[in-house]
Amino acid sequence: MSKKVVVIGGGIGGLASASLLARDGFDVTLIEKNLNFGGRAMVWEKDGFKFDMGPSWYLMPDVFEKFFAEFGKKPSDFYTLKRLDPSYRIFFENKKVFDISASLKKNVKLFDKLEREGGKKLIEYLDKSKYQYDVAMKRFVYINYGRISSYLKFLNPKLAFEAYKMKIFDSIQNYVDQHFSNETAKKILLYNIVFLGGTPKNTPALYAIMAHIDFNLGVWYPMGGIGKIVEALVELAKTHKVKICKSTPALGFTFKDDKIVSVKTKNASVPCDLVVSNADYAYTETVLLPREYQSYPKSYWNKRTIAPSAYIIYLGLNKKLSRLAHHNLFLVNDWMSHFDQIFENPSWPDRPSYYVCVPSKTDSTVAPSKGENMFILVPIAVGIKDTAEKRKEFFDKIIEDLERTTGEDVKKHILVKRIFAQSDFANVFNAYKGTSLGISHTLFQSAFFRPSFRSRKLSNLFYVGQYTHPGIGMPMVLISAQILHQEIVSEFK
Ligand SMILES: Cc1cc2nc3c(=O)[nH]c(=O)nc-3n(C[C@H](O)[C@H](O)[C@H](O)COP(=O)(O)OP(=O)(O)OC[C@H]3O[C@@H](n4cnc5c(N)ncnc54)[C@H](O)[C@@H]3O)c2cc1C
Repeated sequence: MSKKVVVIGGGIGGLASASLLARDGFDVTLIEKNLNFGGRAMVWEKDGFKFDMGPSWYLMPDVFEKFFAEFGKKPSDFYTLKRLDPSYRIFFENKKVFDISASLKKNVKLFDKLEREGGKKLIEYLDKSKYQYDVAMKRFVYINYGRISSYLKFLNPKLAFEAYKMKIFDSIQNYVDQHFSNETAKKILLYNIVFLGGTPKNTPALYAIMAHIDFNLGVWYPMGGIGKIVEALVELAKTHKVKICKSTPALGFTFKDDKIVSVKTKNASVPCDLVVSNADYAYTETVLLPREYQSYPKSYWNKRTIAPSAYIIYLGLNKKLSRLAHHNLFLVNDWMSHFDQIFENPSWPDRPSYYVCVPSKTDSTVAPSKGENMFILVPIAVGIKDTAEKRKEFFDKIIEDLERTTGEDVKKHILVKRIFAQSDFANVFNAYKGTSLGISHTLFQSAFFRPSFRSRKLSNLFYVGQYTHPGIGMPMVLISAQILHQEIVSEFK
């Protein structure tokens, strides 16, 4: 008899682990709270506009290849990838606008303009970043830090030295300061730390690998949108006979000794030998489990650095935007005060940096032919008051800034509008405090220190997704599914 697995949550982590386990003969049922799959990577369609609600940057194509290869497939079996050029455009507050190109040569020229020997410094920085990336992927990313064998590895002097060279103990801010003197150059190399839900000061320098990911491996786009990845994962799950149930939230469990024996839903109790929770880790632990079965109680989560929430505006416009690229960043001079209003003094930011995606620049299927699909994201603190008045006031602030900075009229061209913010993350995804990304990648929330793949109290409860190692982002979550799958197979097969 195959072992029965219930996967709670149809985000990227849940779908990926369900397919891997079903491929290996487990009898898998996946239950998703919402009507649509994808979790944070859900798609919303209205009046001819198709919005990717969360992720929009397809980075680390090697990781997607490795994941699909598990099934004898390639990403191109499911979607066509296009490398974006420019990779992205940055609008600085001082009115300077720079494109980061897919061509290293052009980026070297740009850095030469920014500071003396800037191009040479960029090449050196990217070489180091490539080295760090290669070592990290080979030695430190695809491993389960919950296993004793992972700790023992670090007794090997060669590996310990490699770990030391990864600059684990320095902050990425200090690391970039040591390499560059120009503030604009530094911002170009640091903006992507926001993807990891942290600040340049609280994120370890090992995440300098982001520069290699961004400049060398490139920024890609799956034609049809990020939703194509979710469709691919659903197709894999169906191919491997995962029983999929939408609109079916898990409400709790029944227990026998140190095991879960069934997952409760509104209409049924689904029997199981194993449970994999892809729902927010904090929610599963503190809401779905009674106190005696919690490995990480409320007090644990209260002490974590929680990654920001997001204030997101989806706009369908009846005009074309000539001054924007596919990905655009709007960075203020004093971005530390925005970080401060996210982490230190949680409040609505007075002078925020933000991100604008216009996927219809690349993909004609996501907007009507004369229109543009626009997604605006501002990182905001968790736990602040998310009222209708504040949302409206903030909307006006951001759109006015966008119009002023780009010289493009936006407000009078809006056909479709939706705002998604902190309380929506909490309601739609059961996100802890309305976080968009889970927990930040601070030193003490990375690798060994990330919440474990398995419960310490229940021998058949496992976790997958952005809260676990390696962390936030679609590629990381696919890796987390691969690590979890190894863990389960080695014990139960
Ligand atoms: C706005 C935004 C922009 C982002 N941009 C990027 C990007 O450009 N590139 C990138 O790589 N990554 C990006 N990310 C990060 C990436 O989207 C996430 O790290 C990843 O999608 C998380 O996947 P997951 O499977 O861990 O969790 P989730 O996507 O949160 O999936 C969890 C699932 O569990 C379900 N669930 C919750 N409670 C229950 C329950 N009780 N019963 C049943 N189901 C339940 C939820 O509905 C959800 O479907 C972005 C995220 C956001 C929010």
